[in-house]
Amino acid sequence: MALSPMMQQYFAVKDQVQDALLFFRVGDFYEMFFEDALTASKALELTLTGKDCGLEERAPMCGVPFHAVDTYVTRLVEDGYKVAICEQMEDPALAKGLVRRDVIRVVTPGTLTTFSPAGEKRNHYLLSVCADGKRAGLAWCDVSTGEFFAQQCSSDLKALGPLVGSVAPGEVIANIADAVAPVSPVRCQAYTDTAYSYPGAKDRLLKHFKVGTLLALGLGKEHREAVRAAGALLHYLSSTQKNDLEHITTLKLCREGDAMALDDATRRNLELTESLRERSSRGTLLQVLDRTVTAMGARQLRAWVEKPLTKRAAIEERLDAVEAFRSSPMEARAIRGSLEKVYDMERLLTKVSYHSLNARDCLALSRSLAEVPKVKALLDGMDREALKPLKEKLDPCAELRDLLERAVSPDAPVVLTEGGLIREGYSPELDEMRAFGRSGVQVLSDLEAREREATGIKNLKVQYNKVFGYYIEVTKSNYALVPERYRRRQTLTNAERFTTPELEELENRLTHNRERALRLETELFDGVRAEVARHLSRLKDTAGAYKALDALLSLSTCAEERGYVRPRINEDGILKITGGRHPVVEANMPYGEFVPNDTLMDRDDRRMHIITGPNMAGKSTYMRQVALITLLAHMGSFVPADEADICLVDCVYTRVGASDDVSSGQSTFMVEMSEMAYILRNATENSLVILDEIGRGTSTFDGLSIAWSAVEYLCDKKKCGAKTLFATHYHELSELEGHLEGVVNYCVAVKEMGEEVLFLRKIRPGGADKSFGIYVARLAGVPNSVVARAQQIEKRLEVQNSDQNSLGQNILTAEKGKQRQVDLMHVPETEFIEEIRGMDVLAMTPMDALNALFLIREKALKL
Ligand code: ATP
Repeated sequence: MALSPMMQQYFAVKDQVQDALLFFRVGDFYEMFFEDALTASKALELTLTGKDCGLEERAPMCGVPFHAVDTYVTRLVEDGYKVAICEQMEDPALAKGLVRRDVIRVVTPGTLTTFSPAGEKRNHYLLSVCADGKRAGLAWCDVSTGEFFAQQCSSDLKALGPLVGSVAPGEVIANIADAVAPVSPVRCQAYTDTAYSYPGAKDRLLKHFKVGTLLALGLGKEHREAVRAAGALLHYLSSTQKNDLEHITTLKLCREGDAMALDDATRRNLELTESLRERSSRGTLLQVLDRTVTAMGARQLRAWVEKPLTKRAAIEERLDAVEAFRSSPMEARAIRGSLEKVYDMERLLTKVSYHSLNARDCLALSRSLAEVPKVKALLDGMDREALKPLKEKLDPCAELRDLLERAVSPDAPVVLTEGGLIREGYSPELDEMRAFGRSGVQVLSDLEAREREATGIKNLKVQYNKVFGYYIEVTKSNYALVPERYRRRQTLTNAERFTTPELEELENRLTHNRERALRLETELFDGVRAEVARHLSRLKDTAGAYKALDALLSLSTCAEERGYVRPRINEDGILKITGGRHPVVEANMPYGEFVPNDTLMDRDDRRMHIITGPNMAGKSTYMRQVALITLLAHMGSFVPADEADICLVDCVYTRVGASDDVSSGQSTFMVEMSEMAYILRNATENSLVILDEIGRGTSTFDGLSIAWSAVEYLCDKKKCGAKTLFATHYHELSELEGHLEGVVNYCVAVKEMGEEVLFLRKIRPGGADKSFGIYVARLAGVPNSVVARAQQIEKRLEVQNSDQNSLGQNILTAEKGKQRQVDLMHVPETEFIEEIRGMDVLAMTPMDALNALFLIREKALKL
């Protein structure tokens, strides 16, 4: 048996896109066959059917209607599949034999251009990494907006983690996938060596950006790997998108050291764009700051939050712009009003490359451009130096806007094939054809009247449908009155349809006219689209200025609404905050309830703050607030404080709370230690480090020792010397003040009133001596009997603690021949069981071991 011709065609196409699910267009459906059908029917919950394909067994098949294809493709791609879209390349009605079909696009997780509306507020990047020994180059592109970046990195691959994390790519390709995989948040695919070759990559960049030398893109010899990564990315895009990617008009070169590369743990812990618990935007810094009115602006603001700046000039430039708006609230409001009318121009312009820009998109562009002169006039009125560059980038593209207004019909439909795109008055020729079409309606109704008169059939109708064209319809009861000159065209149950030579002739003229009009409209509209394409680069500039304006206005609006102040930036290592507040905690509390706190850190004798205080007192909130205020200042935002003097920092590091990373097979303590290791290895004298409860995931002495030595290391100017806020329940660490240079103690004040504890939330100099853990346990609803027993035990332990000699009844046990010390007073139960199990001499059941532990402890307590 032989394959049917269509199936032969199917296999020829499938051969080109073996790693993708093939959506094969057949009429109004995209069909999937064989393995692809099995996979897609499961993933999309589609009914699986079969198709005769010429083989003995029917081919498994499933399909989706063409108009709903975006939703299905998005679902598959979000599940990690690649989808190849194969279209019919000619009109089936006109095709001779089998319709020609071809893949028009391969959609992959990093190149998805159709998203749910909610997804438009963030970028979706495809990242390309070129690793070569000690050097690496990165390039990333959001194909839905045309933003394209590259960066050369001097450090080895391990250090790329934070940078990759800040890009948050949806898909990663690399020349050596294995090397990149450990720092990639998503599966990293190896891409062809040819694409990563320097000469090829260089050539591709020169051709794409139509420049004679890479220097025109800011790329020199030292950017070799960045060039390779960017060239490979273009290669991958053109092989999947199958168009010339005209909408990617610039390549922005990012420089190491221009922005902070915040590591994953820091971004997560500080809840910059995603909350720890719900992994949503609720309760994040971004949510508090985001008062943008366009999707473009929202994306810009997110990018600023994810990549705070490190160079003073750039920070001051943004602060100046925010201040300009802050001090001209009327103008700021008016500009926001204008921005509300601006569409997502970046994404509209992407449609130029995909030949899918429709008339409504053109109207949206024209409306967006209409706001440019107004915004420019408002900016002129403000006359601020800081806003000049933005004003210059705002290009009204007057001649294009004029064309769009004249050419595109305000009532244009979304579809491109049914006419109605071009505005009356734009083309006299088209107007004439349309007039003829309209007069045709009159001629037909005259004809209807005449035929009724001539035949005496009162309900005779002249009608039109797509299949039969024009016809005269006569109901059954009037058949006898039908004259001989009528020719029968169709019989229905209750009526007959006829035509006459006169009607046929009229029909020919009308149909011909309509076809010509449609052709002319298509030509005219193509002309309009070509003009848009010609203006791409200028339109992109305007879009860029709009989105920066929106993000800046968002910061100034937030500053106004929440009472933020402009931070002073210094290079003297002083971090001084007066009346600082946590932006997110404050926003979620009734106005005025948040208790502000002051901070003073420097490079010398105040660089390490040891913060003690009871549970629930507000230590974590305070430390995060200092980190967030510092980051806000570095992103060019005003800050929640009465006054703030913020020194430039190269990076902020945090290690906060315990988080299990079960999915990656790491224990809580292991995660804690790796995060700390990362900080100790990377933090410098110019960094800000936040450490919360280091060393709590292990036994007391182990933990205290680790915390102690970490403090010493961080404090040591020869090794690190970073500004550090260190919250701990190991009150022993307070002893370091006065002994270790740079250490100062702080505690969070509480007031004890009998049984009750009042949290004052005020940071004060000095150390704390109590934890109030049992009190917090009671607040949390731990059963009374347990609370009471805990209090009893605590009292005994305090007596115990006061007697230094009996502290920690250490016993020596023989473990596999070695001597090992076990602190039976403090060892956690589970660990004790493990200890016991590991001993050759004692074969105990876990239950027995636990009982033994409790017995030893009870005995110790009675001493
Ligand atoms: P633990 O040692 O148990 O981790 P903690 O000292 O780190 O506790 P936080 O988690 O920072 O305490 O704060 C507990 C709660 O107190 C917060 O959720 C917040 O609601 C409130 N809080 C903290 N700081 C302030 C403040 N400055 N003003 C008002 N409320 C605050």
